[in-house]
Amino acid sequence: MAFAFLLFALALPIDWNRQKAEILKIYRDLIQIDTRAGNETKAVDYIRRVLEAEGIPTKTFALDPARANLVARLKGNGTKRPLLILAHTDVVGVQAEKWPVAPFGAVIKDSYVWGRGSVDDKPVLAANVMVMLLLKRRGVALDRDVIFLAESGEEADTKNVGINFMVKEHYDEIDAEYSLTEGGGATLEDGKVVRMDIGTAEKVPARVRLVANGTSGHGSVPRLDNALIHLGGAVQKVGQWQTPMRLNDTTRTYFEKLATMSSPEKAARYNGLLNAGTAQASQEYLRKNEPQAYSMLRTSVVPTRFQAGVGDNVIPSEAEATLDIRALPDEDITKFYAEMQKVIDDPAVKIVPLPATRPASPATKLDTEMYRVLESVSKQMYPGVTVIPSMSTGASDKAQLRAKGQQSYGIGPAGKVEDRLNYGAHSDVERLAESSLYPFVEFVWKVVIGVAAR
Ligand SMILES: [Zn+2]
Repeated sequence: MAFAFLLFALALPIDWNRQKAEILKIYRDLIQIDTRAGNETKAVDYIRRVLEAEGIPTKTFALDPARANLVARLKGNGTKRPLLILAHTDVVGVQAEKWPVAPFGAVIKDSYVWGRGSVDDKPVLAANVMVMLLLKRRGVALDRDVIFLAESGEEADTKNVGINFMVKEHYDEIDAEYSLTEGGGATLEDGKVVRMDIGTAEKVPARVRLVANGTSGHGSVPRLDNALIHLGGAVQKVGQWQTPMRLNDTTRTYFEKLATMSSPEKAARYNGLLNAGTAQASQEYLRKNEPQAYSMLRTSVVPTRFQAGVGDNVIPSEAEATLDIRALPDEDITKFYAEMQKVIDDPAVKIVPLPATRPASPATKLDTEMYRVLESVSKQMYPGVTVIPSMSTGASDKAQLRAKGQQSYGIGPAGKVEDRLNYGAHSDVERLAESSLYPFVEFVWKVVIGVAAR
C-alpha cells in the first residue's frame, strides 16, 4: 500500500505554485552570497550543504581553495550518455553607489529581485540546484546521468580556476553528450513570451595587435616612415573592411525564424540575406542599423585600443593598436590574418596574434534530441512562441565544452527588452522579475526530464 502510494506520488506532476517559496529561497540565498571573483567557495559551501542534506553526494575541485568548483551526479541506467547542467557561481564587480538597494541584498521591490548575479548567473544556478533536489526527492528513473556543475571564474579566469581547470584536470567528472547553461533566454512582450533564444553557437575571440615600426626622431622633422601614420592608415583600412559574409546552420535558421515574427519590411531584409541578389543591400542596412545582427554574419574586426608615443615632440619608433577580432566558429584564422595583411598592404605594419582566451569550437547541432526537447518544452509552456537558435557575438564557457565534443545549449529566464538593456548582465544595476524565476525553473525541469528521464 505504502509502496503503491509512493509510486503514485512520484507520478504526480509538480505543483509549481507550492514550489515557489523554496525556489525563491535558494535563489535569494545565492544572490546574498557575495561571489565576486575569489569568493566562489562560499557559494560552493552553500550548495554542498543543500544537496548533501538530501542525500546527494558532492565533490569539490579547486585549483585555488577560495575558488572551488562543485560536481554532483545523479546516476542513470547508462543507456544514454550524460547530461551536464552547469552554471557559474562568480559575479562581476559592483559600484554600490549606483544601486537603489544593497547589491547583495536580493531585495524584492516592484516585483523584481534585485542584486548582482540576479540575472547572471544565479537564476541558472538556482534552477539547477532545484532540479537536482526534485530529481532526487521524486526518485526519477534516468536514462542518463545528470551531472551538476557549479563552476568558478567564468567572468574572469586569468588563472584558469574554473572551466579550464575542470576540462583539463577533471574532464571525466563532467564528460557529457549534452550540456545546458546560460546564454539564451525568452523575450517578453506585453506579458507574453514571444521568442525563445537557444544559444547554439558563439564567435571565437581572435584578437591581434597591429604593430607599426618607423624611425624615431624629433617632432619638428616630418618623416615618411612615421609609425603613427602607418598605423593610422592600417586601422582605417581594417576598420572599414567588409569581411566576407558566411552563414552557418544556426545563423541561417536564426534569420529565417526572425523573419517569421517580424514586420514585412524587416522580414524582407532578413530573408534578403539568404539570397545572393539581395544579400549586399540587407547587409548594408544591418551594418548601419542592427550592428549585432551584422556581426553574426561574419568575422568582425573592431579596433579597441591605441598605444604610442612618449612625448609631444618625440616621434616614437613603434606604435600599436589592438583589434578585437571575433571569428565565425569555422573560420580558418591563419588564412584570415593573411587576408587582413593584404588589406593593410603596408610592410611597416605587422599583425601579432594575442594569446587565445577560448578554444575555437564548432557550433552546436540543431538536429539533436536535446534541441527538439528545448523546442517542444518552449512551445508547450509558451504557446505561439518562436524558438530561435542563436549565435552569440561574445564568448562563454560553452566554448570549452564544445571543443571537447559536447553539444552545448544556452538558456535563460524571460525578460523584457528594456530590462535586458538597463538591468541585464553586467549592467550597473541588475534585477530579474520574480515572475520570470518560477517558469524558468519549470522550463529547466521539463527539459531535463525530457532528455534524461526514462
Ligand atoms: Zn554569466
